[in-house]
Amino acid sequence: MSSKTQSIVWIKKPLAVFAENAEVGVVIQGEKILELVPQGQSPKSQIDEVYDASDSVLLPGLINTHHHFYQTLTRAYPEALNKELFPWLKSLYKVWANIQPEMISVSTELALSELLLSGCTTASDHHYLFPSQLESAIDIQVEEAKKLGMRVVLTRGSMSLGEKDGGLPPQSVVQTKEQILSDSERLIKTHHDKSDGAMIQIALAPCSPFSVSTDLMIETAELAKQHDVRLHTHLAETIDEENFCLEKFGLRTVDYLESVGWLSDQTWLAHGIHFNKEEIQKLGQAGVGICHCPTSNMMLASGICHSLELEEAGSIIGLGVDGSASNDGSNMIAELRQAMYLQRLRYGASKITHQKAYHWATKGSAALLGRNDIGEIAVGKQADLALFKLDEMRFSGSHDALAALLLCGAQKADRVMVAGNWKVVDGCIVGQDSSELISRHSDAAKQLRQLSSI
Ligand SMILES: [Zn+2]
Repeated sequence: MSSKTQSIVWIKKPLAVFAENAEVGVVIQGEKILELVPQGQSPKSQIDEVYDASDSVLLPGLINTHHHFYQTLTRAYPEALNKELFPWLKSLYKVWANIQPEMISVSTELALSELLLSGCTTASDHHYLFPSQLESAIDIQVEEAKKLGMRVVLTRGSMSLGEKDGGLPPQSVVQTKEQILSDSERLIKTHHDKSDGAMIQIALAPCSPFSVSTDLMIETAELAKQHDVRLHTHLAETIDEENFCLEKFGLRTVDYLESVGWLSDQTWLAHGIHFNKEEIQKLGQAGVGICHCPTSNMMLASGICHSLELEEAGSIIGLGVDGSASNDGSNMIAELRQAMYLQRLRYGASKITHQKAYHWATKGSAALLGRNDIGEIAVGKQADLALFKLDEMRFSGSHDALAALLLCGAQKADRVMVAGNWKVVDGCIVGQDSSELISRHSDAAKQLRQLSSI
């Protein structure tokens, strides 16, 4: 580590901060938070550099716990517009089957950049497309995350139940159980870092009950246990999925999950909408986590997650933007606003506060990923921070700065720090030519459409 990153930096007197006892700022040394400075006090450490944060709201770096980076190539895709999940997926699977390795690089780079610019410092991706040309998809994603210096939890997704076996995806995108398990083990051995402050982690993530076999669900859980990595999948997103599970397995979604050995605190689920009262209790008691994806749930008209009942039962709630074909953005700070407002429709305004949304996107999301080194501005945690300025027209006239970020609809962080390094300065990613990236990415998206219409 360079001496520069070991210098002691005081992020001084933020306009507002989402943390206890840090009103006068945060002191960083290397990749960690060294000290919080409470009201009326000064830092106890010898300070090398001061960053004046008096015009900025300071948040722990936001954590996105569900995404599909490759879907940035099929945003607002004509054949998928105005559809619900199953017909939407069927329109897109055949397009995604044509994705090429260089398209994985550029879509990962773009999605991570979009997230970073919106204050996100850790992102999880669920990549489950492995046609023959994409066997190295996760390795490519690892390289892109390293180049950007973002923290990632890349989940090795899978699909093994093609149309000929009664599943939803076409045969060209499914793999055998043996291929999936051996590649999952290879990826864990190659890339998974268990240490405190890890930048790259791997989790295992069969796509959904309607796209993998029962054996694969069971053996994936066994492999995850053997290597102490987490489990992730989509569950209870739609009623179509519930009907599929009843018809195919004779079980509702949560009973199915239990039957394959997945009801544990090592599992986090994307969406988790269609649960009855008994299922919520069962999930809570097992400590299964839920990633709420509000925009995607609204866009596909899937339903509204029972976040508070799940929390009361014992589940952790975190947030995710979901894939960029069902959002169609990767803006994490905007997703907090969506979560707050969608959940207010279910629980009312007084129970779903802006603090609740911040909590879900930081400490909640960190816990979903099994991390206690991120998600909080506290001594000893990783220095992952996002600073937002309130200098746009949309904030003019606002009074409570922390509330204003969400209520006035913040879109863009001014500065973002990952592991003690500034990655975003003045609203731009350090060292990145964003026009060049957009041009490469949009060319890849056009090329994918061409390949898919041949
Ligand atoms: Zn998803």
